[in-house]
Amino acid sequence: METSQRIMPNILVTGTPGVGKSTVCEQLAERTGLEWLEVGKIAKDCECFEEFDEVYQCPVLDEDKLIDELEDKMAQGGNIVDYHGCDFFPERWFDIVFVLRTNNTVLYDRLTHRGYTGKKLEDNVQCEIFQTILEEAQAAYKPDIVHQLPSNTADDMEENLDKITAWVEQWKMRASS
Ligand code: ADP
Repeated sequence: METSQRIMPNILVTGTPGVGKSTVCEQLAERTGLEWLEVGKIAKDCECFEEFDEVYQCPVLDEDKLIDELEDKMAQGGNIVDYHGCDFFPERWFDIVFVLRTNNTVLYDRLTHRGYTGKKLEDNVQCEIFQTILEEAQAAYKPDIVHQLPSNTADDMEENLDKITAWVEQWKMRASS
């Protein structure tokens, strides 16, 4: 199904682990009525992990299997996809892409609090410093649909929620006119 045939938009919320994706997506789902799809959780439930990465101490995603799993839902529209990677999703799935960004000292504290240490902690903070996910999103989607949003403070979060909710309302109005 083409983008124009959907009656509700699909949003991608991406960024380095710890930038606040889950927190914002959960609240966005409440405000907009869109469905929050936590890709990490869905992948676990549908057994979309193929092996274990010993270096990063995390499972490796079977991307093709996950895409098959989500295809019908995404074709319907009305989803907020939450994941720390973005270049393997089909480009046609998304109407807009938000990349959350967090200051590296703030992120360091959040990830330490989450229990990350050593290489995992360093690599994730570096990923944010080098804006790896932002560049991944800019390379994978049309530049005019990729937006970075600061996610350091509670005020940032409120502002982001307001902005994204307003965008959803506008999208729905355009779709119904
Ligand atoms: P992610 O889903 O990107 O891994 P989380 O939503 O789990 O990140 O957030 C990581 C931690 O940071 C949580 O403890 C959350 O409460 C906190 N947090 C997220 N966004 C903000 C923000 N804008 N301001 C302050 N704390 C935040």
